Formats: sequence, structure tokens, C-alpha cells
Amino acid sequence: MAPTVKDGDITSELLSGAGIATLMCRDLHALVHELNEGAAAALIAEEHLSGTQKTPLSAWLARQPPWSDLPLLILTRQGADSPDSAEAWRTLGNVTLLERPTRVTTLLSAAQTAIRARLRQYQIRGHLSERSKNEQALRSADRRKDEFLATLGHELRNPLAPILNSLEILKLSGAFDDDRTRQACAVMERQVRHLNRLVDDLLEVSRITRGIIEVKKEPLDLTAIVRAAIETSRPVLDNLRHELTVEFAPEPMCVGGDPVRLTQVFANLLNNAAKYTNHGGRISVTTRHDNGEAVVSVRDNGIGIAPALLSQVFDMFMQVDRSTRRSQGGLGIGLTLVRSLIGMHGGSVEAKSDGPGLGSEFTVRLPLLVNATVGSAAAHRMEPLPSRRILIVDDSRDGGESLAMLLRVLGAEVALAHSGRSALECVDSFKPDVVLLDIGMPGMDGYEVARRIRGNPANRNISLIALTGWGQDEDRKRSVAAGFNHHLVKPADIEQLRQLLTVA
Ligand code: ADP
Repeated sequence: MAPTVKDGDITSELLSGAGIATLMCRDLHALVHELNEGAAAALIAEEHLSGTQKTPLSAWLARQPPWSDLPLLILTRQGADSPDSAEAWRTLGNVTLLERPTRVTTLLSAAQTAIRARLRQYQIRGHLSERSKNEQALRSADRRKDEFLATLGHELRNPLAPILNSLEILKLSGAFDDDRTRQACAVMERQVRHLNRLVDDLLEVSRITRGIIEVKKEPLDLTAIVRAAIETSRPVLDNLRHELTVEFAPEPMCVGGDPVRLTQVFANLLNNAAKYTNHGGRISVTTRHDNGEAVVSVRDNGIGIAPALLSQVFDMFMQVDRSTRRSQGGLGIGLTLVRSLIGMHGGSVEAKSDGPGLGSEFTVRLPLLVNATVGSAAAHRMEPLPSRRILIVDDSRDGGESLAMLLRVLGAEVALAHSGRSALECVDSFKPDVVLLDIGMPGMDGYEVARRIRGNPANRNISLIALTGWGQDEDRKRSVAAGFNHHLVKPADIEQLRQLLTVA
């Protein structure tokens, strides 16, 4: 936009001679149109930028994406600085002022520099768009990985239930009475439970990544929790002949927390201390009050952690040494879980080590509750299972049959169905007191079976227990809505099942 049409023609000719394509615009609307079409730079006489005239251009400049900084060459009048060009310089961004009359070389070099700058911006645009494409691809790969982990966890969990049930049956049937078989049974049980823990960790991590991990807080005594964690880890500690010293704070350590989750946290830290310390190491657990916080620290004299890796050990799947000798069958998830769970309790966890070979210390801090009383969980006595007619519905034959055998050994009268339809027939003929119902079945699923059973008033006294791989709050809500009385997650804890059947 030259001062006059004549000036415009001369300037166009000059620039074209230097290989720069130009186009003259009548007003700023036309100029903005050309900018949208991809003009690399604009050459504007200051007369066209006075007052509100420049609004369409300044609006266009303000809307530029982050990579864009359009070069503007402003032809100013000769002599004293005019307020219009000063204002344009201040407000329009990437501005070069060229005083008239402009020398040809000055004009050409300014125009070429502006175009070079714009080309560089296009390169950045290319990089940014490439990066955003890569980012999207990574994000979708990450999402698929999370989904895969969730599916893997569930698929691995299903076969574990029948294996554990069958072991339980063999134990109850007295099949493991001589030393050799008892030992073999103990090995199987330990290994299956280990597998179970790995699968639980996998499921937990997929819950963390989807942000649906749950904690149910209540006032509790942290000392009791740490004691329970020590008991959980005792076999690992003893196995590796570690010496454990414990120093509990004399005052009560009352915190608001989920007892299961917090036990899991300290058992994880203790298991790690045991795993990453050579045989016969020293491990200590101390608890204390500090500034309104309950502090628990687990210290070992094991292999230690290099300073640069200290903050990374909490990252998902992070393992300092992936050789099987050291990773000891872990998945690199334990500390991720510890950090998430402690975070959900409003606390923090920190790792310290003076370096490789110099031991490690993990310190957990949780806010102390003041004036809280801690309820003690009533110790439960195991009651024998009263006579019950139980219908088990599971499309997995192994799962159903092993549970049926186990409940028969415990004295129940059991019928078995492997599909929703046969379950409904069986309810009519067998007249069970309790139906243990799998949810995910081909054809008619457990929810539908439950609704149909509840649909018949004759069945109102039947107790319905969902037995499924899915244990989130929303799954539990769905099963309540379908008419279930209870919801158990596979592999069901036999003791919990026994208690439910006793009251059902
Ligand atoms: P995993 O033990 O399954 O590998 P974790 O998340 O529990 O996973 O731990 C991550 C990594 O942190 C471990 O692989 C190990 O390298 C390191 N680490 C954890 N605890 C200790 C410890 N007490 N001493 C030394 N290194 C440890």
C-alpha cells in the first residue's frame, strides 16, 4: 500500500526486478485478504495507518498463531517522527520503518530480509505441526498401552481364581498330608499369590493412569498399619535373612487413611528394602511425629540409588537395573503406586541415598489427625458354613467347577450353570438360597440374569452375589441397580465369601 498509485507502480517494478512478486492493495481490508492468502510481508505507507483505519490489520496481527510474526515495512514521511509511525511501531509488532525517499538498496534489502524472516517462520510452523502430529501419535499409543494393561490385568486375573480355588480344595481334602506334597503345595501357593500380586499391581497401575483409583479414608492408628505391613513382608524379610529393627513413636499416630491402601504402601517399601539389599542386610523402620505430620521411614543398608536417579524411581515402569537378578520379578510399578496413594492421602514420600552401595531410605509423611479416636476393627471368628443351597453361574468351566468343589467341601449344596439361560432354569428347579453370579458372560450377561431373577417375586429371598473381575465403584453401582446384594471381585477371598454366605 504505497502513498500513491504511481509510487506503488514504481515500487512494484523495483521489487519484481529483484524477483519479489508483489500485489497492490486499495485498502487494509484488501491487504488482510492477501495476508490470508499467504503474503510473506506487507509494505505500507504510514498514511494508511492513522486512527481506526488500521483496525483490520491490528486485529489480524493479534490473531496470529504462535509461530507467526508477520514482517511489516512502513514507509514514513520525511523528517520528524510522525505520531502515526511511532504508534504503528509500538503496537504492530515486527515493524521496520523506512524513511521516504527510500534508497533502492535499502528498500530491496529490507524486503528480502522480511521474506527470509517469514520463510523461517514457515519452517517453525512445519516443525510445530510435525511435533503435534508426533505428540498425537504418542498419546494414542500411550492410551492403547493403558487399555492393553487393563485388559491384560483382567485376562490374567480370571485363570488365577480357579487355580487358587483348586489349591484350597486339595489342601482341605487332605491331599497334601505328606511332607513332599505339602512342600509342593506351599511352592504353588506362594507362586500363585505372587502372580496375583503382580496382576493386582498391573490393574492398579491402569487405574492410576485412568485416574480412578479409590481410597476410603477413616481415622486409624498408623502404628498398627505399619505392624500389619511388617507382617505382610515378614516372609520376604525372613527368606533373605534380613535383620529388622523397629522403633515406634511413643505417642499415638492417628491419621485419616485407607487401611488396605496404607498397608500396601508400607509393605511395598519393606519389600523393596528387602529386595534391593544383599542377604543378611539390616532394615529399620521408624515412626515419629514432626510438625503436625506422622513420619514413617524405611531404611536399608542395600544397593542404594545413584543421586541422579533418586527422583526417577517413582516414575512408572522405572527400574534402575533391569537385570532379573536385581529386579526380582517386579514390574517397576510399586513406587509409582506408593507415590499416588500417599498423594491421595495428602502426604508425601521422598527417597534418599548417599549413592550406589550405601543403602536407601524412603520417608513417608502423612498429616496427623488431632482429637480423633481410632476404631478397632472387631476381630472376627470363623464360623462354619451353615447349610446353604448355592447356585454358581460362570461361563468359565474351571472357575465355576473349582469354586463348586470348594463350597461342597465346606458343606454347601451346590448347583452349577455355565450360561445365563441355564442359570434361570436352574433357579426355578434348584431353588437356591444364594446365587453366585459371574457378570461378563456371552449372550445373557450377569446383570440381565440378576434382573430376571428379581423380576419374579417368588425369588425375593434369594441372595445375589456378583463375582466378577471388575471392582470399580461404577461396577458396584451397576450391580446394586441390577438387584445384587453383594459384589465380590475375583479371585474372591475365600474367607470373605464364607462370611457372606454365612449371613446370606
Ligand atoms: P520394582 O521393585 O518392581 O522394580 P518399584 O517401583 O518398587 O518397582 O521400584 C522402582 C525401582 O527403584 C526398582 O527397580 C529399584 O531399581 C529402585 N528401588 C526401589 N527401592 C529401592 C531400595 N530400597 N534400594 C535401592 N533401589 C530401590
